[in-house]
Amino acid sequence: MSLTGVNWGSPKYTTMVNNGDPDNRLDIVIIGDGYTTAEQTMFNEDARVLVDAFAQIEPIRTYIKHFNFHRINVISKESGAIDPHTDPPQKPDTALKTFFSPIAERRLIGPDPLVMLVATESGAPWDKILCIVNAPRRGGATLASMTVGYASRNSNDYPRIMIHEAGHIIARVMDEYTGELPDIDFAKDWSLPSFLPWPNIDTNLERPKWWRWLTPGVDMPTPDVQANNDVVGAFQGAAYTNLGVYRPQRRCLMRRHNHDFCVVCSERWIRAVYKRSRIADGFLPEFRLPQPPIRWDAERPLIFKAQVVRGKGIKTVWRTKKLEQIRWRRRQATSDYQDFMVTLEANRFGGQKIPTAWAIECILEDGSDRIRTPSIRSLSRQKQRWYVITM
Ligand SMILES: [Zn+2]
Repeated sequence: MSLTGVNWGSPKYTTMVNNGDPDNRLDIVIIGDGYTTAEQTMFNEDARVLVDAFAQIEPIRTYIKHFNFHRINVISKESGAIDPHTDPPQKPDTALKTFFSPIAERRLIGPDPLVMLVATESGAPWDKILCIVNAPRRGGATLASMTVGYASRNSNDYPRIMIHEAGHIIARVMDEYTGELPDIDFAKDWSLPSFLPWPNIDTNLERPKWWRWLTPGVDMPTPDVQANNDVVGAFQGAAYTNLGVYRPQRRCLMRRHNHDFCVVCSERWIRAVYKRSRIADGFLPEFRLPQPPIRWDAERPLIFKAQVVRGKGIKTVWRTKKLEQIRWRRRQATSDYQDFMVTLEANRFGGQKIPTAWAIECILEDGSDRIRTPSIRSLSRQKQRWYVITM
């Protein structure tokens, strides 16, 4: 007997893209609501289309090795989603009870705790959940749990709507569009020095949160004209109002579904990647204190290896020192990750080898120019140290 009482497909979950150990990956599960037994094949195809769309959009495309994707099959008795806006109102019997909000016509949501419980019961490893709804009309949204994104399959840009919702729950960025609410001048009416915690919107024109990204000499506010498509400045209009709230770039997927993520939202995706996964799965040979030092006869080379998740754009520093010395010797600093082979000399005294203790260190860091915020750069940093005794 399952706690949630849902009807499972078989198997309950399927790993669609396996890029590595869930302990070191951002695991996204895709679940469907309003899909009947006969519609499971359609759901599987919808999930496939979504995963393919994810893999196309930057910066996810570049960081795709940090993601796993799984699909959960649950069966609804009836197709659709609960919709109070139709005449008569629709009340299909679906597994997850997703519904259009009574107060906002396009807001398609569901009971997050139930969806999270179902995901857990399926046995799939998950960090975030995307719920595709087989609703007859367009819609999407997220709720305050910042864990589940919902989108209707029935619009031609549905994968992009879902990736927009994923922007909320994974990258934790705010809507940059306007027009759903009456325009309120937040800066004037509320005198907020800095609008809410969202990194991609601000009321502060003097020094917006994304000041590191500003195009030198850019006009503030920045004119909303095509010539400024690649400029980073402060464009008025974001977070549902056209007054007093600014966004970093003219175009962003958090504003329109046919655009890519702006530089600020992209950087927050990378932050999400490193919040959940490290730059390397591990290092070889395995070594962790209090393990005794590796004993080595110094006859053949000893190879150290960083098992990086993504082989490109990793700044790597390898360095060594004799433990009685103070300074590290930087043997190799590379722009891309490489294995490191040491040929440490054995100390000799009167023809006799004398044991010498060495420390060897590897420091990895994401060198991408998509990162400008130091705290995000340091989030990517990973360090390993080995102790070796040459005999
Ligand atoms: Zn953006």
